[in-house]
Amino acid sequence: MDFDLSIKGKCILSAEDNEVNQIVLEHTLAEQDIPFVIVSNGEEAVEGWEALDPLMIFMDISMPVMNGIEAIKAIREKEAVTGKRVPIAALTAHALTGDKERMLEAGADYYLTKPINPNLLLQKIAEIADTGSTRAIL
Ligand SMILES: [Mg+2]
Repeated sequence: MDFDLSIKGKCILSAEDNEVNQIVLEHTLAEQDIPFVIVSNGEEAVEGWEALDPLMIFMDISMPVMNGIEAIKAIREKEAVTGKRVPIAALTAHALTGDKERMLEAGADYYLTKPINPNLLLQKIAEIADTGSTRAIL
């Protein structure tokens, strides 16, 4: 996949396979001044993370090719040698008991349930900006 490398180190990466959710994400993320990239499976999420060094990642869990859990684990594994840690918020419709724990165990820092709530999404970005690596550009 080709990524716009001019936004490397200063964008939000979002992985989501559902078209309706992609549109919601697009509208919501466009409300702030940070560039964003939406990819549609876990493999592209890992590629995007490697190419773009994003400020944070919103990761859907149920996706084709590679699911969000596998993608999070792959990113955390690769990160282990760099000492860096990108904030990852898992987004999932699964409301089963133990799901949250499964996401966090895989390496997600946050957990948001679907349907996507634009306000909560923006709140999460602000919260991460306050506590994490996005402070500099927000
Ligand atoms: Mg999905």
